[in-house]
Amino acid sequence: MPASTSASSPVRLGIDLGGSKIEIAAFAPDGVELLRRRIATPKGTYDGTIAALAALVAAVETELRVGAGGATVGIGTPGSLSRATGLLRGSNSVCLNGRPFRDDLAVALGRPIAMSNDANCFALSEATDGAGAGARVVFGVILGTGVGGGIVVDGRVLDGPNGIAGEWGHNPLPWPRDDERPGAACFCGRSGCIETFLSGPGLERDHARAIGAVAAAPRSDGSVAGTTATAVTIGAAAAAGDFAAQQTLARYEERLARALAHVVNVLDPDVIVLGGGLSNLERLYARVPALWGPWVFSDRVDTRLVRNRHGDSSGVRGAAWLGSAAGTASAGR
Ligand SMILES: [Zn+2]
Repeated sequence: MPASTSASSPVRLGIDLGGSKIEIAAFAPDGVELLRRRIATPKGTYDGTIAALAALVAAVETELRVGAGGATVGIGTPGSLSRATGLLRGSNSVCLNGRPFRDDLAVALGRPIAMSNDANCFALSEATDGAGAGARVVFGVILGTGVGGGIVVDGRVLDGPNGIAGEWGHNPLPWPRDDERPGAACFCGRSGCIETFLSGPGLERDHARAIGAVAAAPRSDGSVAGTTATAVTIGAAAAAGDFAAQQTLARYEERLARALAHVVNVLDPDVIVLGGGLSNLERLYARVPALWGPWVFSDRVDTRLVRNRHGDSSGVRGAAWLGSAAGTASAGR
């Protein structure tokens, strides 16, 4: 049983709220993980989600003997809070949209809480004590089912008046070739978004098209009809010498280089940290920086491209660091 900690250096709770599961982890002030729990997300019920989160926090505080309200709490969730209205929007847990989720949760938990989206939590986790530790400007990228990004400057998440800083996945793929226009339709209503090329489903669709599989349109879940090749199997096939898979990854790397060059030209980060399932493609870290030079408006590029250190733990870790800032600020954020 972990020792209880003093009020001056409280336990930090980080919550990763997903569509199917809620994960919570507790961290000591030095970042050591004390415990981790996971429950199913209540289906389609706003009040049920608030109640489940409150019960989860209470149970963890009891288990850690920190006393009710004794821990700081941060939460990462898909979507973002509107600064203008305080209402959540853009979450794929749609029952949360249009509701003052952070304020209602703060009331239920009896303390201020911090909330941000999953890409921001990832970037903060890696910037604090992960692959971007010590860097002034960190751009965190999620390459998974979707493509997201978050920016941390001097250890703080860059938010912005619209709450969308770093959200570059729905910009168009820059410097498109003729065969990349107009690009696949995206759920956001546009076509040719970076996400349609660089997400896992985007990679799979590109591969299927190249090898002539029947893959005109993705299914509603984003998977591709007519092929069983996934990002994982494409990566494995390329490593085993499969020429088509190697060509697919080469196209992917060249597109990622273009997309990140755009970010470097605007933000000029010290470090770009990759997360999400596709960050496990080890070859990206050598090949993409070898490709992005021609699109970066500089005679040399010193930005580092690195793999995340905390992997799937970054959601809860980043949320915990966010919550720590909210708990110590104490002013009404
Ligand atoms: Zn889009």
